[in-house]
Parts: sequence; C-alpha cells; structure tokens
Amino acid sequence: MEKKKILLLGTGGTIASEMGDSGLQPELNSEQLLRYIPDISDICQVACDQLFNLDSTNIQPKHWARIAAAIRRHYREFDGFVIAHGTDTMAYTAAGLSYLIQGSPKPIVLTGAQKPIGFETTDSKQNLRDAFTVAASGMAGVMLVFNGKIILGTRARKTRSKSFEAFSSINYPLLGLVQDGRIIRYIRPEARAVPQFYDTVNPRVALLKLLPGMDCGVAAFLLAHNDALIIESFGVGGLPSYKAGDYYEVVKNGLEAGKVVVMTTQVENEGSDLAVYHVGGAIKRNLPILEAYDMTTEAVAAKLMWILGQTTDQRWVEDLFYTPVACDILKV
Ligand code: ASP
Repeated sequence: MEKKKILLLGTGGTIASEMGDSGLQPELNSEQLLRYIPDISDICQVACDQLFNLDSTNIQPKHWARIAAAIRRHYREFDGFVIAHGTDTMAYTAAGLSYLIQGSPKPIVLTGAQKPIGFETTDSKQNLRDAFTVAASGMAGVMLVFNGKIILGTRARKTRSKSFEAFSSINYPLLGLVQDGRIIRYIRPEARAVPQFYDTVNPRVALLKLLPGMDCGVAAFLLAHNDALIIESFGVGGLPSYKAGDYYEVVKNGLEAGKVVVMTTQVENEGSDLAVYHVGGAIKRNLPILEAYDMTTEAVAAKLMWILGQTTDQRWVEDLFYTPVACDILKV
C-alpha cells in the first residue's frame, strides 16, 4: 500500500534550536529536522515547508493565520499535516488553529520538544515520530502530540516548563496515546466531510489575572485598549468589590462601550460557575458578560480572536462563543 503523504511545516521552537551566544535559538529548517529521523520513510512520505523560524514567544495570531493558510493551500495534496512549533505558546497555536480550521477530517498535528533535536538527550525525535504516526493515522482535527500523549487542540496547556511531560489536557480526556509507534485511541474526534477555513483573527484581546486587592484601573486600561477582556478570577468566578462599584462599574462601562468581557478562573481544573456565589451571580444577572465554564484560557483567547475577526455584533459574538467548536466547551 502506498504510504500516506504528510506535509511538515517548520515554524521554529526548541526542536529546531541551536546554542548561540545568548541561549538557544531556532536555526534548523524542516528539511534539516527530517534528516534526524531517516526511518520516518517507514511510516509516511514527507514533504517540507518552512513558514518562519521563531521562538514561539514571538508567535502571534497572524502566524496562526499563516499556518492555517499554508494548510488550506496544500489541503488536497496531503493526508495529514505536522507542525513543528515551540512549546511555550504551542497550546495557543493549537487553539487558534482549532478555530481557523474547523471540522478537518484530516489530522493536523502540532509537536515540538523540550530539548533541541541535535542534543544527545532529546525528546525531539520521539515527538516527531509520534506526530507523524498520528498524522498518518487518519485521526481527524487539530491535535497536539507530545511525550506520547494525543491532546485535543482546544484542550492543551503547557503545565511543565522543563520536563518532557510538558503538556496536559484540561477538563477533557486524552484523545489517545502513542506507545512504541502504535496509537491507542480513546476518543474519535468529530469531523466534517470538508473543513471550514477562516483567515481573519482580531488580536485585540487582553487577559487580566486578578490578585487580591489589585486596583481596578488595570481592568479599565485593558478594556480601553482592546476589544475583549478575559478576567481570570478566583475559584468558580466573581468580581471583587473593594470599594462600592469599582470593578463592577469598570466592566459595565466596557460592556456599554461595546467591548466583550469573559469571566474565567485561575483554577486549572473544572472551570467557572458564576451563579454559585453572590460575587459572581450578581454580575452575571445584571451585566451581559460571558462565562468560560470549562474552556481553557488559551481556547477562550483564541476563540475570541476568531469570533472578533468575523463580527462585532454582541448577539452574534455571544452565540458563537457558546457554540462548541472541537469540544472546546461542554458545560453550557
Ligand atoms: N522557547 C521555546 C519556544 O517556545 C521553548 C520550546 O520550544 O520548548 O520556542
């Protein structure tokens, strides 16, 4: 049987890095990466494209759009796609691509590494091999493959800064595992016959993590300079009221000025539920704020950027926000 055709898109990251005077920086392109795993021809046929070569700290939503556009351009020619990417913002890119390429019946797999591919001890080769294995498997949709885990693109988070076990799936089970080159599939992601591609993102989305006692002026500033504000509050969610009306008035003014405000939580697992306490219930009842429920902050941010790239109509924004895309929200 003819081997599946996979396109490897290089974007930079540790996996492609070499040591420079001031630390690691991306140097290798996707063809050079591939040379480290010559046995990949046993799994699939690979073609290479280098989109940019960045530490993922420098990757922005416009780069997500470039990755999506490259996949769109080559969608018919290939059976699957592997994106070699830095780990630091890979979860944001995975979420971003989940909104820019919806319902893909073909696998779109992000991977990277904690140690460069040229180092003696490295997770690069295994992660790349596993990513190609998944990309050649016919599994549908945007996924992140790392240290043997297959994570849905809307559910990934970097939870360890140094270990090989760098990513977790938040509020959703793993799609499966890759063990010794074989896939153990737990979940079959949903797909359409053809994917829906989008090309516009609006990056004017800000995130505010609350601290006890923090001045609400920061929230006012962020609302004035962005189209949407995500507030990472405490527990199941609520707004502080240190002085009469402080945060409440800032949020109300922002909403009246047409901004979108989403309340989420700093707690990693189980999500928000604003209705539980008066500190959350009172704002949910009186103001048209949105709530993240079980979505990750990465997915909330990427979803808002995608939605605000399509519309600013508040009703439509709300509808799209609560409409599940790639199992990003379950609790609505
Ligand atoms: N700073 C690197 C990056 O995100 C880290 C990594 O790839 O692991 O590009």
